Amino acid sequence: MKELSGKVALVTGASRGIGRAIAIQLAQDGAKVAVNYLSNEVMANAAAESIRRSGGEALVLQGDVGDSASVDRMMQQLTAEMGPVDILVNNAGIIHDTFTIRMSEKDWDSVIQSDLKGAFLCTKACLRHMIRRRWGRIVNISSVAGITGNPGQANYSAAKAGVIGFTKSVAREIASRNITVNAVAPGLIETDIIASIPKAARDALVEMIPLGKPGTAEDVAAVVSFLSKDIASYITGQVIQVDGGLAM
Ligand code: NAP
Repeated sequence: MKELSGKVALVTGASRGIGRAIAIQLAQDGAKVAVNYLSNEVMANAAAESIRRSGGEALVLQGDVGDSASVDRMMQQLTAEMGPVDILVNNAGIIHDTFTIRMSEKDWDSVIQSDLKGAFLCTKACLRHMIRRRWGRIVNISSVAGITGNPGQANYSAAKAGVIGFTKSVAREIASRNITVNAVAPGLIETDIIASIPKAARDALVEMIPLGKPGTAEDVAAVVSFLSKDIASYITGQVIQVDGGLAM
């Protein structure tokens, strides 16, 4: 019997990158996993297929986490096909980087909507069931940018700092129901999201990492897996950095 057998996990933004690695890890831990994506159906199907090939159970779930009607539809489908969510990983996120002086209202709103409002909508949609069962795990993927700030990322840093405040508030609200809510703050992780960083800027960033290299999606997935298990039942409202020491 695997530790998360019988649990249903929803990982938002699981078609690629960190979310994909988390979905695969939670499935290896025994959970049935819903692989949410926004537009990349081919990659989402590939992630789900990889889970099934290893003997796991996966459901591909299209939906925009920043849109309440879309989240409602997604949750209905998920509940009907797998059951209600026990483990929620709010991972979906985007960036629209530029300096504040040049940032459009649309750049601001779209990042806040996906990266912050998305966590709120998905959490709200899952809470009732978790409270009823008196068991739940919520892991929100923040970023070191939400802790230290980052030039060119005022929108993203604000959203990710918001995710930390959101995490701590919800953790306090529902701790008495045996539901833990934690945040994981990755540093520089090798995924599509950082592919657009110019090489010189990227090399400069890597030099600032005490462990001397970017992290992998699997490094982040290992911490999410830990936080999802009973062994982590006395940890709530925390922000765990997975950043090679970048922000100490
Ligand atoms: P990624 O490779 O760009 O993948 C982003 C994922 O989010 C994709 O699955 C994408 O779906 C999905 N997505 C985007 N907007 C969505 C929406 N509105 N609704 C549903 N799904 C949506 O990103 P990543 O690097 O793995 O990042 C994952 C999380 O870690 C993000 O929250 C990011 O901010 C955070 N993070 C990443 C790093 C890093 O260095 N990589 C560092 C710190 C924090 P589609 O494939 O359909 O587009």
